[in-house]
Amino acid sequence: MMKLFAANWKMHKTQAEARQTAEELVRLVGSGLAADREVLLTAPFTALAATAQGLAGAARFSVGAQNFYPETHGAFTGEISPAMLQDAGASWALTGHSERRHVLGESDGFVGRKTAFGLAAGLNVIFCVGEKIEERKANQLAEVLTRQISLGLADVPRDVSPQRLCVAYEPVWAIGTGLVAGPAEILEAHALVRSQLAAIFGSAGREVRILYGGSVKPDNAAEIIALDNVDGVLVGGASLKADDFSRIVLA
Ligand code: PEP
Repeated sequence: MMKLFAANWKMHKTQAEARQTAEELVRLVGSGLAADREVLLTAPFTALAATAQGLAGAARFSVGAQNFYPETHGAFTGEISPAMLQDAGASWALTGHSERRHVLGESDGFVGRKTAFGLAAGLNVIFCVGEKIEERKANQLAEVLTRQISLGLADVPRDVSPQRLCVAYEPVWAIGTGLVAGPAEILEAHALVRSQLAAIFGSAGREVRILYGGSVKPDNAAEIIALDNVDGVLVGGASLKADDFSRIVLA
């Protein structure tokens, strides 16, 4: 299975900065990208095309968006469609990121609608799940993941190509905080995600990649990526500088 190293640039980078970071990343990674690894840069809408230009077609590097609206077109002021993202060079998109759920108020049902719509529109999707600290303290990890996954994947066709869908486990308390889930916590959550994927997709559920996200840095990436059921990482803060992210990609 190819491991996916995905950057989430969030609301950072102008076009020039995005192009420069992408170019520098390709240069730093050089020929060192392991044969079983691929890299994805999720950029702000305005920087998608510039990011693609910076990558200049480098093999196993691609561009993704961080959000879209689940309609083809219409009176949705301020929103953007999957086809518009593809037109700007994106082949992937995130759904269900904790900042969209908890800052922008997206419900499990809306995240599910987006996930199914994005896949149907031809985007590959990284669907994000994860518990808040109060849910973890209340022993609700399994309950939260089960609810988010069952609603989030409810309308995804059971025969979807597993290579086109990833689930990112991102404990909310570990995003942007410097707190990393420990190996036991990651193993437990990823095993729960894996068993739910198998229940939904059967044997293909074993081929859906499960990414870990939450304060991944150059000095902890190798340990995390080596864990069972960790098929990649989703990286926020440490993906903004090409030097840091290249060290994660090469870890
Ligand atoms: C993220 O934004 O998905 C994320 C994991 O952020 P950070 O790496 O900064 O915790």
